[in-house]
Amino acid sequence: MGNLYTSKTPDCMSTSAMSAHQSSLEDALKHFFGYEKFRFDQKFVIEQVLKNKDALVVMPTGGGKSLCYQLPALLQSGLAIVISPLIALMQDQVTALRDNGIEATFLNSTLSSDQAASHQKDILSGKTKLLYIAPERLFTDAFTNFLGQVSNRIGISIFAIDEAHCVSEWGHDFRPEYRQLFQIKQRYPQVPIIALTATATARVRRDITQQLRLRDPAIYVSSFNRQNLYYEVIQKEKKAHTQLIKTIQHHQGEEKGSGIIYCLSRKHVSEVTQKLQQNNIQAVPYHAGLSSKVRETNQNKFIRDNSQIIVATVAFGMGINKPDVRFVIHYDLPRNLESYYQEAGRAGRDGEPARCTVFFGWGDVHTVKYLIGQKSNDEQRIAQQQLNQIIDYAESSICRRKIQLSYFGEPFDPPCSNCDNCLNPSPKEDWTIEAQKFLSCVYRCDQRFGMNHIIDVLRGSRKKRILKLRQDQLSTYGIGKDRTPEEWKLLCRTLIYQNYLEETSDGYSVLKLNANSNRILRKLASVEISVAKQIDRPLTVKQKTDNTDLSAAEISLMGQLKVLRKQLADEQSVPPYIVFSDASLRQMAQKRPQTPTDFSNISGVGNRKLAQYGKTFTQAIRDFCEANGLITFPPESFPIAAENPYQPISKSEITATQIQTYDMYQSGLSLPDIALKRKIRLTTVNSHIAKLIEAGYDIDIDRLVKVERQTVIKKAISLVGAQSLRDIREETGDTYDYQEIKLVRAQWQRENT
Ligand code: ADP
Ligand code: ZN
Repeated sequence: MGNLYTSKTPDCMSTSAMSAHQSSLEDALKHFFGYEKFRFDQKFVIEQVLKNKDALVVMPTGGGKSLCYQLPALLQSGLAIVISPLIALMQDQVTALRDNGIEATFLNSTLSSDQAASHQKDILSGKTKLLYIAPERLFTDAFTNFLGQVSNRIGISIFAIDEAHCVSEWGHDFRPEYRQLFQIKQRYPQVPIIALTATATARVRRDITQQLRLRDPAIYVSSFNRQNLYYEVIQKEKKAHTQLIKTIQHHQGEEKGSGIIYCLSRKHVSEVTQKLQQNNIQAVPYHAGLSSKVRETNQNKFIRDNSQIIVATVAFGMGINKPDVRFVIHYDLPRNLESYYQEAGRAGRDGEPARCTVFFGWGDVHTVKYLIGQKSNDEQRIAQQQLNQIIDYAESSICRRKIQLSYFGEPFDPPCSNCDNCLNPSPKEDWTIEAQKFLSCVYRCDQRFGMNHIIDVLRGSRKKRILKLRQDQLSTYGIGKDRTPEEWKLLCRTLIYQNYLEETSDGYSVLKLNANSNRILRKLASVEISVAKQIDRPLTVKQKTDNTDLSAAEISLMGQLKVLRKQLADEQSVPPYIVFSDASLRQMAQKRPQTPTDFSNISGVGNRKLAQYGKTFTQAIRDFCEANGLITFPPESFPIAAENPYQPISKSEITATQIQTYDMYQSGLSLPDIALKRKIRLTTVNSHIAKLIEAGYDIDIDRLVKVERQTVIKKAISLVGAQSLRDIREETGDTYDYQEIKLVRAQWQRENT
């Protein structure tokens, strides 16, 4: 099978073939997506697909898999079919593509038959470049027929199979409907298939290739190293809530970045959410016990940056595309190392610095152990092993990145300079003598007591029970006063974990010596302890990838650009990251582009975004420069987006919350009443109504905007186009407000496209 961890040119490709593609592929990347460079193996994959070869792509979350099929889809004639099981994600991907001016659509079970028919009509007209579809729909008779028509009339450019590990029973998420996908190759042998996944062992990789009948596929396995992620483990203290709040405040920084807090149980999720809210930290809960409506609302709040934090069980995350999550905290122990890698990996998909923190407490280990005890024998063994891996990860003083990567069989040479252990190696101390004291005390106490009691004896406690048992007469009584109880606990756990001591799992946690204990007592082995870490320590450590290069002025400008981004996103009812990523904003704050040329040099600014947002953002930057005595450049005109960039949305894209607004409006409530009742902002209600109008819902606009005002706004639109609300308002004058312009524009879109 193909190369592992390649980033080099596959042998089959000549350099001349590469350079022929070189400029055109990079130009296309910039044109459509605004990026300067390909990541990982993106370019090689794309070249293979353009040569009609099958490919299997294994890249970590956030690696940029989507681009591997999106760019070829745009460079070829015909329709690309993207098969994905994550229905919730389809909408997001389609919205993101459209915001880059790319025609994409989806077909799945959330659509009515009318809606599906309308999407199909668009496809057959040749407008659409990418179609997202759920696997179960692919082989229905109706769709098979439809695909036949597509193939004859406009052609199929590629099949992309996302989450391809679902095809394998050996994967962690087997889906029987994926087994049918072999039919694709049978029916369309000439169309290349590109299979993509973020998790694949060699076994799953083989399975994917066989199941999908890939023909001599180019296989690319990128490194699983996510360099922009900082990994750390914090010892959970007694006042863990306070500790959590401190950590969140630190991670959020001035920029108030988004974060996910994972908890093991629903109960914990509720408790933590409450605590955060009491401390004025915006947070919403997410777990399977909440109604689907509440879950959707909370998820949207998080995605749209209306709530910076989501506190969740692991039910949250699959199908979340938010690229600007700045930190992921596991407040409880992760289930196993692989889940940890995936869950922590939801941070920093945009490649910007992000933090992954585990709160590690031995109390949690006991809880998990108890839960493991309830399982069947076989399950116990596996669960215990997984628990040990996690403890290993948390307790270890070697590079966290190395531990994670070695789990995936990927070699890595520390230090990584971006984990707590590498940045701040914890000193080790030889505690063999302490270990001897501890073990002999366990022995002297007849191996009938638990940890706390042994520590009491060692530290010479005058507790009644000890005196009654005459343990103050033991030779080990009081020989451990020089160490704190916490230090003894750390030692005791280390001894258990290193298998020098046993602890019964009958609920009494009695300490017992084992065959190994003697090795310590007889000085045949030594015990090393990593000195415990304090919460304050990691917080003061500077990450390699911290935005240390941002000056105060840059941070301030970035803050303003974020506000602008949010405003533009709200106007269009899309998540802020659809407008621009954090990475793009940071570059803007650093380079302060004011001309179309400079603005187009920002990563993430493709042709469409240049036309759509260039004027607004450069003006904000100019204003900032003026206010701060920095050099300003006179405004230049920006290109107008080619073709009609503003697509009216279809009914299928109307969300549950918009429908709720619609129902209330139909019942006769005014917009301010709806806002009040639903506890949402008036502008949000207004956006809902605009979307509903655009999608063709029956809303009498005369009830909302006076007819003569409508005429003025429509005239302005006919002069400057519908694309920019600001341009329209410049034309109407500022006695008109954005809200009414938005409604009329929606109506205009409905009538004119
Ligand atoms: P995956 O599906 O592998 O998890 P995505 O395709 O969602 O990853 O990409 C993750 C993020 O990285 C997206 O925000 C995407 O726009 C961005 N991205 C992808 N390729 C590049 C690139 N070459 N340069 C900069 N950003 C990129
Ligand atoms: Zn490291």
